Amino acid sequence: MQKYGGTSVADPDRIRAVADHVVRTHRAGKQVVVVVSAMGKSTDDFVRLAHDVSSDPHGREMDMLLTAGERISMALLCMAIIDLGLHAVSFTGSQAGIVTDTVHGKAKILEVKGDRIRETLANGAVAVVAGFQGISTDRDITTLGRGGSDTTAVALAASLGAEVCEIYTDVSGVFTADPRVVPEARKLAKVSFEEMLEMAATGGKVLALRSVEFARNYGVPVHVRSSFTWEPGTWVVEEDLSMEQAIISGVTHDASEAKVTIAQVADRPGVAASLFRALADAAVNVDMIVQNVSTAGHTDISFTVPKDDLHRAIAVMEKISGDLEATGITHDSNVARVSVVGAGMRTNPGVAAKMFEVLARQGVNIEMISTSSIRISCVVPLPDVERAVIALHSAFDLQIA
Ligand code: ADP
Ligand code: ASP
Ligand code: MG
Repeated sequence: MQKYGGTSVADPDRIRAVADHVVRTHRAGKQVVVVVSAMGKSTDDFVRLAHDVSSDPHGREMDMLLTAGERISMALLCMAIIDLGLHAVSFTGSQAGIVTDTVHGKAKILEVKGDRIRETLANGAVAVVAGFQGISTDRDITTLGRGGSDTTAVALAASLGAEVCEIYTDVSGVFTADPRVVPEARKLAKVSFEEMLEMAATGGKVLALRSVEFARNYGVPVHVRSSFTWEPGTWVVEEDLSMEQAIISGVTHDASEAKVTIAQVADRPGVAASLFRALADAAVNVDMIVQNVSTAGHTDISFTVPKDDLHRAIAVMEKISGDLEATGITHDSNVARVSVVGAGMRTNPGVAAKMFEVLARQGVNIEMISTSSIRISCVVPLPDVERAVIALHSAFDLQIA
């Protein structure tokens, strides 16, 4: 399984280079299935176009529009492969048998049939599948959320029993931080599923979160690597407990979420349940949640939501704030999250203290904190986040192998 991201198929030269690599892999005796993303930034262009014609683009039509991008790249890649003397057949997500639920814009894969892919391979041809899309149980075209081609690739790899799922991209692997922000960031030779899950969930967008969940659940070996240099990249694998763990494996950051606060809700059983049930029913993905101590039977609750979901979240909250006795709803989009991730922090106390000290020295104010057993995240002012990432990367010596 080889997946090529947008930059990897951005223009005709890149598409021919990818075709060449696919053909070489096939000639080396492998059956090859390819998943492609839309060319370059074309998905962003489609999103902009949709907002130019509509103030609130209809979900079904948005998905119909966005899936066109992957259709273009799959057909062009097949043409380029055929030119090199190998047969290749393209398939939309629907044709590949990727069945999803009915949530437009962030559908979940329910089943991967893959019959036509197997037939194509059995005929000695290469199958090229459009990433990021499927067909819902209501027979409508759906998309899997931004970056979803990774998920298509891993899900298909699991279903077909692929030897490896190679994710080709514009960096040479998974780094200790986004190399665009921290030039000293170091490529990791391998990273565990657990660490990669935490990194993907907190902004390490080199792999889509859902794809890592699939890889872990089905044991798919994932190899993240460059389609520009073709050098070996990073293996995402089962945690090796016999090895000494690095305390911190990476620093991530994410500016895609906003902070919302609902002030002075009643402090009694059922209030949080009603609030978060209403948000869940509106398909708002709530992330970090903080509830303060209560004074006089009332308390503030703050949480983060994707900026794209902010308007929906506020609308839902305004509807129920009376029932919760809330005195107001505020939101702040000028925030970002910085996180440190590492399996070694389970057995090394003091990581949180060190993180907070580093931020304090930088004069960065921490607005919210959340932790898992292998991650610590802080919400900080957006203008400070890159400085925080650079300082943490250096304080934890991540540039040194
Ligand atoms: P593709 O279009 O190939 O799917 P993406 O843009 O989705 O590529 O993902 C690759 C990008 O992820 C890189 O260009 C890099 O800027 C960014 N990135 C963020 N965090 C990391 C990280 N820890 N390691 C590597 N890349 C990262
Ligand atoms: N083209 C889609 C996006 O830009 C899916 C992907 O590239 O993975 O989000
Ligand atoms: Mg991607």
